[in-house]
Amino acid sequence: MKEIFVLAEHRKQQLRDTTWEALAAGRKLAEDLGAELTCLLLGSNVDAMADALAKEAPRVLVVEDPRLEPFHPDACMQTLKAILADRGPFMLVMGNSNALLDLAPGLSVTLDAALATDCFKFEVRDGKPLAWRQMYSYKVNTLVSFKDAERIVATLRGGAFAFTPSGAAVATVEKVASPLGGTTFRRRFVGYVEAEKGDVDVASADIIVSVGRGIGDEPDMEMFESLAEAMGGVLACSRPIVDKNLLPKYHQVGTSGVEVKPKVYLALGISGAFQHVGGIKGSPLLVAVNKDPRAPIFRVAQYGIVADLNQVVPALTDKIKQLKG
Ligand SMILES: Cc1cc2nc3c(=O)[nH]c(=O)nc-3n(C[C@H](O)[C@H](O)[C@H](O)COP(=O)(O)OP(=O)(O)OC[C@H]3O[C@@H](n4cnc5c(N)ncnc54)[C@H](O)[C@@H]3O)c2cc1C
Repeated sequence: MKEIFVLAEHRKQQLRDTTWEALAAGRKLAEDLGAELTCLLLGSNVDAMADALAKEAPRVLVVEDPRLEPFHPDACMQTLKAILADRGPFMLVMGNSNALLDLAPGLSVTLDAALATDCFKFEVRDGKPLAWRQMYSYKVNTLVSFKDAERIVATLRGGAFAFTPSGAAVATVEKVASPLGGTTFRRRFVGYVEAEKGDVDVASADIIVSVGRGIGDEPDMEMFESLAEAMGGVLACSRPIVDKNLLPKYHQVGTSGVEVKPKVYLALGISGAFQHVGGIKGSPLLVAVNKDPRAPIFRVAQYGIVADLNQVVPALTDKIKQLKG
């Protein structure tokens, strides 16, 4: 593998976290494989983002074209094809966001590259990259070998690759002419629809108390609100709670809800389906309360309490209040 490419993802002129996480993964792969690292930035009016990337990546390659902003999977695919089609062995890493999942599979076919999605770790054996991913709702870890593939496209699980700014690299930003010419695309960007924000911003909360179906059909919601308040956090939930109209949709954590990155996530009566856990992006402290010791949430939690949440919650609230005086 001679080259590692990292695709920068951005929205409304802001680089997304997926970019830095992909850069973290790309840096390590480049180091382990002795390969060159290049960050690819496609868009329009991207100078500020290119400068930010140039502080962290040894090489930044920029293609500007109004059709690349906002993100358009077809325009992006055509551009990447033009840049990468004639390259030697390479690996391209990018986030596993909805937008990039609209790009990666088609791109891998276009480039005749192997594809691994939602990878949470890479390793190198005998000079070849291998990818770790999970299957069957986090029940099985799989190690993916790319056999003799000389081109690999990989998407990365959100939160799995921690980025540390180095600020050391000062790359030259190389601008490449857009290859799009007069190309027209079958799909058209219509507009962004911002998610309902509501009175609670779960996405930016540092402490989250999250409730799931285990709270029962007629729960005492005040009991959970008191705990969240005592902890200085906000109340979130799994999807069944929204389906039962117990909390509004903007409280829902998960792949079809809000992505959260709290310092502490307390999961009460949540089984740990991947659609839920996929929305908790690398929270350093996940604590789960569940009466079933085999609940999958315990596989990802740092601390687990096997108990009835109706006993744990009041006791925990009282203890916290007592400690806080
Ligand atoms: C396309 C798609 C998208 C989805 N998106 C999301 C999403 O964004 N977010 C999301 O959350 N889900 C999502 N889901 C649903 C997801 O698959 C699960 O069904 C859901 O997360 C389960 O919610 P839960 O853990 O609250 O309920 P359950 O899976 O029913 O788990 C309830 C848990 O509570 C425990 N329990 C019961 N009573 C008690 C008690 N008294 N004390 C302690 N523990 C108790 C049980 O042991 C059980 O583990 C999606 C599904 C699909 C198909």
